[in-house]
Amino acid sequence: MHPFALLRAHDATAAIAAHAQDPELAFIAGGTDLLGLIKDRATLPARLLDINGLPDMARIDARPEGGLSIGALARMSDVAVHPEVRKRFPVITEALLFSASGQLRNMASIGGNIMQRTRCAYFRDEDDLPCNKRRPGSGCAARHGLNRNHAIFGWSDVCVATNPSDLAVALAALDAHVIVRGASGERSIPFSEFHRLPGTTPATETVLKRGELIVAIEVPPSPEGRASHYLKLRDRQSYEFALVSAAAAVAVDGRRLRSVRLALGGVAPKPWRLTAAEAALSGVSLDDPGALARAIAASFGDARPLAHNAFKIELAQRVALRALQIAGERA
Ligand SMILES: Cc1cc2nc3c(=O)[nH]c(=O)nc-3n(C[C@H](O)[C@H](O)[C@H](O)COP(=O)(O)OP(=O)(O)OC[C@H]3O[C@@H](n4cnc5c(N)ncnc54)[C@H](O)[C@@H]3O)c2cc1C
Ligand code: SF4
Repeated sequence: MHPFALLRAHDATAAIAAHAQDPELAFIAGGTDLLGLIKDRATLPARLLDINGLPDMARIDARPEGGLSIGALARMSDVAVHPEVRKRFPVITEALLFSASGQLRNMASIGGNIMQRTRCAYFRDEDDLPCNKRRPGSGCAARHGLNRNHAIFGWSDVCVATNPSDLAVALAALDAHVIVRGASGERSIPFSEFHRLPGTTPATETVLKRGELIVAIEVPPSPEGRASHYLKLRDRQSYEFALVSAAAAVAVDGRRLRSVRLALGGVAPKPWRLTAAEAALSGVSLDDPGALARAIAASFGDARPLAHNAFKIELAQRVALRALQIAGERA
């Protein structure tokens, strides 16, 4: 095991300053991803700053106007069972309950969840295989290797990995914001802009800068929130990452869709919002599965499969359709 010093933070301003000044220091919350990465030697920080003692960062507040504020240190299990989260945004509860295991959800924080790194087996391999995310310039073993679990949207020749967070897919569909604090104050990042596409620099996965701490996630009120669903397909029924998943939220007029929010997981380096499909679905009847499927297909014209994952193009459309239909039954 790589040796590191463990420090404890009690004050956010001091924690942010320490992080800004020390490139060898990493924040640690639940440690369920970071310690695995250290064991795999994918990241080797000299110092870990335990942020669990920071005040007011584990709160879950149901806003009077219908939104939510979720502290970055709130645990996945606490957020999943919160009565107002269940009622207002079932898609969040379901995305969390289909993640990891009960023990992991008790430890893992919301901030850590959206920061977790890809499960690409080459990236996580202790043998230091070619991986531009792990060692920039070394190549991408997955590009022409085993890439069944990899991306069909948004990838580059330098990296074809997917983002593994289930929660992130739900938050992308709901147009959440990531609230970040740095030395010069707070900023609010739209969820769709938080994760980056790999381009030529896949090691930089988010727009978070050194010296910035995620303090909360804000979920705005939305008429679609209550009629929402998260559907996750995986190779085994529990304790597994998504092969393909979909978050759907709808508002209806009778049986016709008035507005739709739709995002996919397991298909891209970031949660993948199906904006063309959302527009095409407006006005379509929930009782016309053929028209629903044709509208969803509007977002798949630019899908680019790799050697082993062309099946994801069909699978993702079916998962999106089923998630939409289940959300529609809740409207
Ligand atoms: C066996 C296994 C199965 C899993 N299955 C799933 C699954 O099915 N679906 C799923 O979505 N996830 C899954 N996970 C991932 C799990 O959800 C994450 O490991 C967890 O959410 C990370 O949270 P944490 O608090 O433990 O983060 P940590 O490990 O403490 O930190 C992760 C990263 O986030 C950074 N960080 C943490 N908090 C902050 C903050 N407030 N501000 C800035 N940076 C911060 C850390 O520096 C680190 O880089 C699984 C994990 C394991 C080990
Ligand atoms: S897909 Fe990305 S993470 Fe996986 S080996 Fe290639 S560069 Fe590394």
